Amino acid sequence: MNATAGFGTLLEEELAALEAAGLRRACRACDGPTGPRTRLGGRDVLVLASNDYCDLARDPRVVRAAADAAARWGAGSGGSRLITGSQPPHAALERHLAAFKGTGDAVVFGSGYMANLGTVAALCGKGDAILSDALNHASIIDGCRLSRAAVTVYRHGDMDDLARALAAVRGARRVLVVSDAVFSMDGDLLDLPRFLALCRAHGAVSMIDEAHATGVLGATGRGLCEHFGCGRPDVLMGTLSKALGSAGGYVAGSRALCDFLRNKARSFVFSTSLPAPAMAAADAALAALEAEPERAAAARGNAAFLVAELAARGVAAATQSAIVPIPVGDEAAAVRASERLLAEGVWVPAIRYPTVARGAARLRASVMSSHTREDLAFAAGAIARALRG
Ligand SMILES: *Cc1c(COP(=O)(O)O)cnc(C)c1O
Repeated sequence: MNATAGFGTLLEEELAALEAAGLRRACRACDGPTGPRTRLGGRDVLVLASNDYCDLARDPRVVRAAADAAARWGAGSGGSRLITGSQPPHAALERHLAAFKGTGDAVVFGSGYMANLGTVAALCGKGDAILSDALNHASIIDGCRLSRAAVTVYRHGDMDDLARALAAVRGARRVLVVSDAVFSMDGDLLDLPRFLALCRAHGAVSMIDEAHATGVLGATGRGLCEHFGCGRPDVLMGTLSKALGSAGGYVAGSRALCDFLRNKARSFVFSTSLPAPAMAAADAALAALEAEPERAAAARGNAAFLVAELAARGVAAATQSAIVPIPVGDEAAAVRASERLLAEGVWVPAIRYPTVARGAARLRASVMSSHTREDLAFAAGAIARALRG
């Protein structure tokens, strides 16, 4: 056996182990645009799996902006912004994001993942301390690891535990406290007023990840600060790839913060900037959201309606956002329920370890502004049947 064959065997064995544990995953073929309905695995399905909460990915204004930008600026940007230059669509989007979030500036990254990775690792290093919620997104966790700072993980959503952890920090140069705004697998919210008060009291830098908050929370979809009507954290991170219907990530904050990240965040410095069509699409999506803020409330209202329809069928679920997790527990049972739903033409993915803890598998429905009440009532019935097996 040569070395390459040995390597292949090793990978096959690891995949077989995943399979045996009910944890092997695959990308299903999706033969249609994202939206409340599409074709998945060769069948027409009602989709409760997209983060395109406000239906902006296929919005004609957004699509047109992307097409026009491709024609004018090209399909690729040619290099990183520090080397090749910053095209007008990038600067325009950053100004627009800063205005939308009410900050001095904003900086765009290749993805939300890259924004978290680069920002956390740029803000903290050896000798610093990071306090991170137990259910934070993987990109925050990876940024913490990359930073080589001392990381304390506090209990999910537990501000008393965060207070204890802050009081226990000794001799750190800088302290960063970081949390999802909407927790991506549970749909619950950070208690931002208490979070900010604790950070202020301890002189810590505050950072929130608004991947599932922007376009969903607050009267006009501006996110968690608008939802609570409170002040802003030092660092507001978000993504362009969910409610903003495009691709990319961003950080909004002071001009000093954004300039610092343009100099120090390695995922910004050492990566080709996103193509202009993605920038122009996100810019147009922001404008659409500003013109039609009711989209955010529609997505939230649909999620609340789905929760009520599930409850009426004896299925317990809760949400404070557009994400509706339906607890199952066992990994294989969650996958079976998801397969049964797909057979009924409803796509609700099963979420398992390592995305959530072992034994905490669930169905995770995400709801869009364009789902109809009939869609959601039908989905609730199908979910209840799938869980009864
Ligand atoms: C999706 C997500 C990200 C990553 O954003 P991408 O643009 O998809 O890379 C980061 N944080 C949270 C909480 C997310 O849900």
